[in-house]
Order: sequence, then structure tokens, then C-alpha cells
Amino acid sequence: METKYDVIVIGAGIGGATCAALLARRGVKTLLVDQNAIPGGKAITMSKQGFRYEFWPISGGPSLNSRFAQVLEELDMQSEVELLTPQEAAVLMYRGAGTDQYKCQVTPAVPTPEGPLALVEMLALQAETLPEVARMFSDITSMTEDEIARLDDVTFASFLTRYELPTPLLSYLGMWSNIVFVVPIDLLAASEAIKTFQDFARGGAARYHSGGFGKMAEVFCHSIERDGGSVLLKTRVEKVSVENGAVTGIVTDKGTFSAPIVVSNAGIQPTVLRLVGEQHFDKGYLSHVKGLVPSLGIMGIRYFLDKAFFEHPMYLSFSDEAYLDTERFLKMKTGEVPDELVVFNVVPAVYDASLAPAGKQCALVGTLCSADPGLPYAEALWNKLDAMVKRLWPGMHECVESSERYSTSHVSSLTRDAVVPGQGGECVGLAQIVGQCGKHKPSARAPLGGLFYVGCDAGGYGCGTHQAADSGVNVADLVMRERLIRATAS
Ligand SMILES: Cc1cc2nc3c(=O)[nH]c(=O)nc-3n(C[C@H](O)[C@H](O)[C@H](O)COP(=O)(O)OP(=O)(O)OC[C@H]3O[C@@H](n4cnc5c(N)ncnc54)[C@H](O)[C@@H]3O)c2cc1C
Repeated sequence: METKYDVIVIGAGIGGATCAALLARRGVKTLLVDQNAIPGGKAITMSKQGFRYEFWPISGGPSLNSRFAQVLEELDMQSEVELLTPQEAAVLMYRGAGTDQYKCQVTPAVPTPEGPLALVEMLALQAETLPEVARMFSDITSMTEDEIARLDDVTFASFLTRYELPTPLLSYLGMWSNIVFVVPIDLLAASEAIKTFQDFARGGAARYHSGGFGKMAEVFCHSIERDGGSVLLKTRVEKVSVENGAVTGIVTDKGTFSAPIVVSNAGIQPTVLRLVGEQHFDKGYLSHVKGLVPSLGIMGIRYFLDKAFFEHPMYLSFSDEAYLDTERFLKMKTGEVPDELVVFNVVPAVYDASLAPAGKQCALVGTLCSADPGLPYAEALWNKLDAMVKRLWPGMHECVESSERYSTSHVSSLTRDAVVPGQGGECVGLAQIVGQCGKHKPSARAPLGGLFYVGCDAGGYGCGTHQAADSGVNVADLVMRERLIRATAS
């Protein structure tokens, strides 16, 4: 196998695969390396006994105008994977104060003019509260980029105090912050929240991909090979080689590869503290990197059902007590599992019937937790989640053929080394909180010659997989520019 490349990308998560595919398409000799047998990272799609499913619930936003559509077009790979945006995509389930019943609203993946009214109805908002609710939504959806950028240092919760909003709407926005960014609403940066909210308002959410969400990364890998690049799976990068203040390549368990540019999708903290090594960075940068805060984690249960129990592909349940703000999260961290949880459930076979044997389904259920791969309260949370599932979908347990529990330890072993206490099992990447968003987001260009970061830690914005793809596009541009500058200078 060829050992010399123009660019090496470590990690075939959505960010790494997007970046590598675009570079190969633009004529750069690219090597993409991943430790797993299948590309996709946290959005990997697995195959087992006739099922294809992600390890945990994954659904994307925005549905329309996504980075995925743009990348597929540049790669000329649109025929390989379809972006699925069903009419009845998501069921919101809200339990109001003083009742045991959940009210449901079915929402389409592509927004309709009736959407806001249906939300008002589901949350049972009183008529007198509506002018303030409308003012808030109107302000958020019409803000300019400059106005949004001025909110980098304001939390979403504190931004919302500018309006007199009813509790059910605050609960909805708390749940939305938890599910879209996997952080508490009172830490989430208002700038990141509003930019993403605008994308969702225009383009909807709850998109999925034919063949499985992770099929996208598989298609990107086919594209790299078609364009003359190489993809090396089941290969763990042990070290990024450095000489005279610049990267020179990588050392893996399958051999050594050289390139003047290395792009890492392994996470900033594992890249700096383990793959490159502390000796190559100054103390100020190291202390900044060590202090970066990960998003929270998601843990849960995969249920394999012998019946097509679910009618819709995605469900989100919440109440005034369920969403996590910092106070509730810190309580949970001490082992006090809340009475009620936000529950996220994705059923891939409702999106695409080929993803399960006929008449069967796999339901991927999750709830929030800390990013710690050790997660001391995992057992209690699994039990609570299972009880919540029984309450939300009576009769489902009678269809369960088998179930599997997953946690932050699985997320970490699949995708991200734990190198700082409490980190490794993060759901998204770095937390999109005040101090880490907009102008404060870590630069995708590392302070070491030829080293870049790609994926959810740097270079992009938005919800999970979309942030990763956005970063993949932006970092590919950055690398192209770097190559041009080097060519001009030499
Ligand atoms: C439980 C859960 C639910 C989620 N739900 C959603 C959702 O509904 N919607 C959404 O948009 N997002 C969701 N996300 C988040 C989303 O999946 C991630 O934010 C996104 O996929 C991260 O992409 P990435 O490119 O940053 O990196 P990752 O997916 O973390 O990929 C990193 C890659 O680098 C590889 N790697 C790391 N170290 C090495 C090494 N030393 N050698 C070789 N390879 C290495 C890993 O194997 C991995 O493939 C969810 C995540 C989880 C865990």
C-alpha cells in the first residue's frame, strides 16, 4: 500500500469522512484511517440478524438545505443515498403539569405553516401568552448574523428571560436544547441555539438517510476510493509524528504513513494530549485544551421487536420536570436519578423498511447523562428509562425479542479516547456552551505546523452530525487554502 500522501485524515466519523471525501474529490492525495471496521463514528450503522440500525437514536436537522445535500452534490453521489424527510416524521409527547397523560403532536420533517399552531395546541398555551411567544419566535427567526454573533456570551436560558414565556414553552425549549445540543439550556450559547433554530425553522428536522444514517459516511468512503484516495479501516492511529514543529505523518498498528498535513477527527483533547503529545504545545494552549468541556452523554436501550409496533420514526417525550438544566444535571450526577426523563426514540425501519426483517422493528431509546465513560449511576438510569418506556408505550414490552443496553463507555470505546477525567463518552463533542461557541470556538487550525481538527470540536456549528459535516466542509476549504499558500511559498 502507498505510504506517502498529501493529507492524512484520522477518523472516519461524519466530520473526517466529509473532509477526506471533499479533499480527494478536489484532487488531493488523501488517506482516511479509522480504528473501526465501519465508517461513521458516533453515527455508524450496524448490521445484525437482518436489522440495520445505529447504536443509538440518530436523526438529523436541518432536513432541507443540509450540508449533507451539498456534499453529496459536490461528490456527485446523490444516487447512492437518499435524504429521507417523511411527512409524519416526529411525535412530540408533552405531559403538562397536574396530569398523567401525554399530549402528542405529529410533526413533518419539512416545516409547514401550521407547525407553530400545532405546538401552541399541544403545549396548551393560553391566548394571553401568545403575543410574547410570537415576539420571541419572530425575533429569533429574523435575527441577522451580526446580531446572533453578539450572543456568544449569553446563555440561551438568559436570552429567553427577555420575554415573558409560559412554563410549557420553556420546557419545550429546555428539551430542545437537551436533544439538539445535549447540554443544559442554562449553559447553551444563545448564538449557537439561534443559528441552529433558524436552520430548523427554514429546513425542518428529523431527516434520516436511506440504508441507515451512517450510510452517508460509507458513501463518502466509496467516493474517496473512486477519486484515487485510500481508506484504511480497522487501523488505530497510535501517534502523530512531529519534526521541527510540524507534523510529518502518523504511526498506526498497521504501519507508518507520511503527509505534511494531518487532520484529526479523534477529538481535540485526545489529539493534543495523546496522539501528538504535550511536549509539542505550549503550556497556555495545553491548559486551554485540558479545560475544554465536553457535551453531556446519551445512554439508553436498543429494543428489537417482533412486531412493527411503532407507527412513526421518531418520538420525543418531555414534561416540565424532565428536561435538564444545570441544577437538575448536578443532582443527577450525585446519583439522584430524576423521577422523569427526556426520552428520545428513533425507529429506523419506519424511515426505511429495508432496515428490519419484514414485520419487525428496532427501537433506539436514549436519555441524557454525563459524558463520563465510568457513569456510576448507569444501572439506575437504565431502570428508570425502561420504566419510562413502559409508561410511554404500553404494550411495547410484549413485542421485545431482545434488548441491549448502551452507555457512555460504549460511545468512548467506539469513538473517543478518555484522556481527561469525566470526558470520552460525550454525545456530540465539545459542549456548545458559552465560552466554546462562535468567536470562542477552538480554531480548527492547531498551533502546530500542518495539524488541523475536524468534526464536532472545531470548524462547524449546529446539531451533532450536521455540525460534523459543516466542519468537514469548512476544514476541507482550510486545508485547500493551506496547500495553496505552501505551493506559493515553495
Ligand atoms: C447516543 C448518541 C445519540 C446521538 N443522536 C444524534 C442525533 O439524533 N442527531 C445528530 O445530529 N447527532 C446525534 N449524535 C451526535 C453525532 O452522532 C455526533 O456529534 C457526530 O456524529 C460526531 O461526528 P464527528 O465527526 O465529530 O466524530 P465521531 O463520530 O466521534 O468520529 C470520530 C472517529 O474517529 C475515530 N478515531 C478516534 N480515535 C482514533 C484513533 N486513535 N485511530 C483511528 N481512528 C480513531 C473513531 O473511530 C471515529 O470513527 C448522537 C451521538 C450519540 C453518541
